[in-house]
Amino acid sequence: MSGLRKPAEVFGIPAVLASIVMSLAASLPAQAQQSPAVLFQNVRIFDGKNGALSAPSNVLVRNNKIERISAAAITADAQVINGGGRVLMPGLIDAHWHAMLVRPTPVSALTGDIGYNNILAAAEAASTLMRGFTTIRDMGGPTFGLKQAIDDGLVAGPRIYPSGAVITVTSGHGDFRQLSDLPRTIGGMLTRMEKLGASMVADSPDEVRLRAREQLMQGASQVKLTAGGGVASPFSPLDVSTFTEPELRAAVEAAENWGTYVATHAYTPVSIQRSIAAGVKCIEHGHLMDDATARLMAEKGIWLSTQPFLDASLASGMGPAEQDKMRQVVTGTDTVYALAKKYRLKTAFGTDVLFSQALAERQGAMLASLTRWYTPAETLIMATSTNAELLGLSGPRNPYPGRLGVVEEGALADLLLVDGNPIDNIKLIEDPAKNFLVIMKNGKVYKNLLPR
Ligand SMILES: [Zn+2]
Repeated sequence: MSGLRKPAEVFGIPAVLASIVMSLAASLPAQAQQSPAVLFQNVRIFDGKNGALSAPSNVLVRNNKIERISAAAITADAQVINGGGRVLMPGLIDAHWHAMLVRPTPVSALTGDIGYNNILAAAEAASTLMRGFTTIRDMGGPTFGLKQAIDDGLVAGPRIYPSGAVITVTSGHGDFRQLSDLPRTIGGMLTRMEKLGASMVADSPDEVRLRAREQLMQGASQVKLTAGGGVASPFSPLDVSTFTEPELRAAVEAAENWGTYVATHAYTPVSIQRSIAAGVKCIEHGHLMDDATARLMAEKGIWLSTQPFLDASLASGMGPAEQDKMRQVVTGTDTVYALAKKYRLKTAFGTDVLFSQALAERQGAMLASLTRWYTPAETLIMATSTNAELLGLSGPRNPYPGRLGVVEEGALADLLLVDGNPIDNIKLIEDPAKNFLVIMKNGKVYKNLLPR
């Protein structure tokens, strides 16, 4: 973890050394330095919270924040982007993403060259940003290096809220070992997936505590465990509950000691209820939940981070057994959204794309598919301000303190200029290459199709 990106840490060291540090900092890539001010003129604002657009407005971005929003003209020494009455909205947020696992196959993710896989992930990160997703919450995978490279401006990509390695049990979801890897000796050699930091097997509260703390030490903004079976793992039936309550609680204590929270992968009522009993704050998926479990989530204020899985082809990059499990999950999608609405659950949007670049290109289309259950305005609010509220659960571990998912004075400047009104026509977000004319992240323009 480089201290160079935190100028405050320079103070208190001898002046000579400080000047060396400062000159090193000056040679850091562009994004770490200040971008010029940008003035959006004549835009109608979808602010991420309200379905109605603003009157024609002007928005001044300075450094990485929205400095001023006004219906009256703003005069400033700034790059002017004339919106021509188009819609300015917050950058999109995907609350369940796996930056390292989108493009490789399951086999190449585990056995491929690490350098190649990191470059592959960097290419995908640039594409993710160009789809208008300016922030992702990474729910498992060795993303710390990618995140640092993006934050340092070496490569383009979204803000990453990393979980680091998924923590699982022997045979659980995320245990990608083969039978030939058994038996494991506690304290023995790590397997390839563990050395990569993709997932860690833990079979006691002590092991869970150790692995959770290791992720926090590396910069995890939240900790991810798998409380039940999953689609993509070879020895993990969907109905199975994995961690015991004391095991889950060990991770919760470790996370809470760092001011953050645990999210668990859980489809079934048992795995969800056990997670809640252990202090877990966010349930990932939940597609096989029942009415009583949804009511419990509402009573306890537990987040539901779920995905519009409508088609078993989402598992097209996987084998026949996994595709069969995907079909079971898909049957629960209408149920989980109906329960989320019935009990007004705090619901986040994510896509959970794995092992398919083609599916990743449908990230915006997956968001638009929420209109099966929600209005377009509700859909866009979920993928902006509501998802940002979930990101805020990471408290002092939030890697990007500041307001995300809104267009407000003082908020972080992650903005999209849309060629049309996505509240009238949500299909616009299905074709970001054409319809997102400007993409800004952290005050920096990454795309601008408007004539200069
Ligand atoms: Zn996932």
